[in-house]
Amino acid sequence: MAIFKCEKCGATKEGRCKPKKCSQCGGNECLIKQEEKSSGGGCGCGCKAKK
Ligand SMILES: [Zn+2]
Repeated sequence: MAIFKCEKCGATKEGRCKPKKCSQCGGNECLIKQEEKSSGGGCGCGCKAKK
């Protein structure tokens, strides 16, 4: 599961696929993938490898 954050309104959304539209502001292509720092996993490339 990845977290996507809207660059326009700052809303976050969880999902496996990148949402096309922001459910908060309705913006298109404004969602960027966020790293889940709290989980401690992942190598930064999106593969979510666990240590
Ligand atoms: Zn938004």
